[in-house]
Amino acid sequence: MRIPVIAGNWKMFNTVGESLALVRDLKAQVADAQGVQIVVAPVFTAIHAVAAELKGSNIAVSSQDVYWEETGAFTGEVGPAMLKDAGCAYAIIGHSERRQFFGETDDTVNKKVKAALKAGLIPIMCVGELLEEREAGKTMQVVEKQVKGGITGISSDDIAKIIIAYEPVWAIGTGKTATPAQAQEVHKAIRALIAALAGTQVAVGLRILYGGSVKADNVDVLMREEDIDGALVGGASLKADSFARIVKFSK
Ligand code: PEP
Repeated sequence: MRIPVIAGNWKMFNTVGESLALVRDLKAQVADAQGVQIVVAPVFTAIHAVAAELKGSNIAVSSQDVYWEETGAFTGEVGPAMLKDAGCAYAIIGHSERRQFFGETDDTVNKKVKAALKAGLIPIMCVGELLEEREAGKTMQVVEKQVKGGITGISSDDIAKIIIAYEPVWAIGTGKTATPAQAQEVHKAIRALIAALAGTQVAVGLRILYGGSVKADNVDVLMREEDIDGALVGGASLKADSFARIVKFSK
């Protein structure tokens, strides 16, 4: 009922030429993939070229961030309509690297999610706890605050359009994956929270992706969990072979 989403976050890797070579290879390898939404998130400079290369394919394009204003004197930022114009259908918002290194807060995430929705981009809103927060037993408290903060003031109809990515920070780029049971526990709690905030129907349809060292050899067990509806993949999305295998997960 919930169409799975496999999204590749390329982070700050790949020139335009490298991006095009990667998606050409990927496009050929996943051409027969069905029942899954495939997304790649190149750096800003490669979005337009990648989107043109992927036109008519089964792979959509996402940005890795978005600013909340449409236009203006905001040097260095890119607005949602500009991303849409360049070929994006999705926008990753609130990735932990942005929270950690660039001052992203629940408040800025909320503004960005609203702006993305207004422009017709699908937000992939990231949440997740630090290792010390997990060890202190605060995982759900942290995740709940991030989810609530990110969707404040957004209607249930619009919440239904959002994708949430649960990415425990200690599992990102570390090779440590949350166990399927650890991920499932948090995903289930997020769905229950959305049910309380936006109603059961919205919660039942909401896609919740897991992110954190997802690889070809662990995607299948993660995807077998009831509340895991896909993956946000960093490192393993940079090679067409491994990302294609993740796209073709088997339950
Ligand atoms: C990410 O960048 O969102 C991510 C989950 O990275 P990795 O798969 O490399 O842990």
